[in-house]
Amino acid sequence: MKKAQPIFVTQPSLPPLEEFMPYLEQIWENKILTNGGPFHQQLEQALCDYLGVQHIALFSNGTLALLTALQALRVTGEVITTPYSFVATSHAMLWNSIRPVFVDIDPHSFNLDPAQIEAAITPQTTAILPVHCYGRPCDVEAIQKIADNYNLKVIYDAAHAFGVQDQRGSILNFGDLSVLSFHATKVFNTFEGGAIICKDAKTKTRIDQLKNFGFVNETTVVAPGINAKMSELNAAFGLLQLKHVDQAIARRQEIDQAYRSGLAGIRGITVPDNMPGVVANYSYFPILVGPEYPLSRDALYEKLKEQNIFARRYFYPLITDFPMYRGLPSAKKSLLPRADQAAAEVICLPIYPALSADDVQRVIAACAEYAQG
Ligand SMILES: *Cc1c(COP(=O)(O)O)cnc(C)c1O
Repeated sequence: MKKAQPIFVTQPSLPPLEEFMPYLEQIWENKILTNGGPFHQQLEQALCDYLGVQHIALFSNGTLALLTALQALRVTGEVITTPYSFVATSHAMLWNSIRPVFVDIDPHSFNLDPAQIEAAITPQTTAILPVHCYGRPCDVEAIQKIADNYNLKVIYDAAHAFGVQDQRGSILNFGDLSVLSFHATKVFNTFEGGAIICKDAKTKTRIDQLKNFGFVNETTVVAPGINAKMSELNAAFGLLQLKHVDQAIARRQEIDQAYRSGLAGIRGITVPDNMPGVVANYSYFPILVGPEYPLSRDALYEKLKEQNIFARRYFYPLITDFPMYRGLPSAKKSLLPRADQAAAEVICLPIYPALSADDVQRVIAACAEYAQG
């Protein structure tokens, strides 16, 4: 039997190539390639408008934006964070000589559990760095209350949360800073890219200095900054992507709905509900493979692979399982039972705008097939 076409967990959205040509011609014409050129400025404004935020500073990728966010607020000592994320969340701390302090997640949101933050605060704690995991908003109010009580900064890793809103507007307006990633695998991509969102012009200026070696003007350097500037090529591509992003998210929503109806009633598979009152971006489609399913999560993952369906176990292993973190006192498995369970049960199913309705049915059928066993 001929093997079916491979289905990957995601596939980057690309607009028609000819739509990009006028942007390229303009770059060739004016010969401005980077350093805050016209496309860079236009994209910052366009993203502020689209996202409903005050200030945005573009970056070459999300990881350097995270690193710089910690620098911008002069975060030191210990930072409270989640083990259930992509490893860059914690790596940004080690690059700043900050010690991550891991706190368990809430099993419904998959996000840092605010009820457990206070017990992890020490005199060295200066900040909280939560993640809006899968684009599901953190309990931003509870987190802010703790931060205010203890005089801590809050930086959100919002790499999954492009465009996500709740009743109050953009989720990116909470905390002191929010960090986005525009990596190829994300809902909105500029090939590589990222951004920091902040609330005041002074902070934006400091961030802009830090991403450009610390330069204030031609001759003055005020900080040991880094080079994390977004190029004109990436910014131009972002402007074009932005024209298509609503359509891309709408298509993701259709897929989300098709999965929800197709997977409903499969014993042992739980689909986390979309959060009430939230305008989601459908960036991921996590399911939990529980003990009532005849196969283990890993066995299902392998079976899907045999059918050329490449789902991903986001986030397994936990950050706290990696060698540079596992020796920390807060990394002990017994302290993180919810994160550990999520890491053992979650599979993220393929979701991206170009995924066909037939392929969605193929994934659903594969999940259902083993359930009957
Ligand atoms: C993608 C991602 C990052 C890193 O962003 P890059 O742009 O790839 O550097 C950080 N945190 C989370 C949660 C991510 O998913």
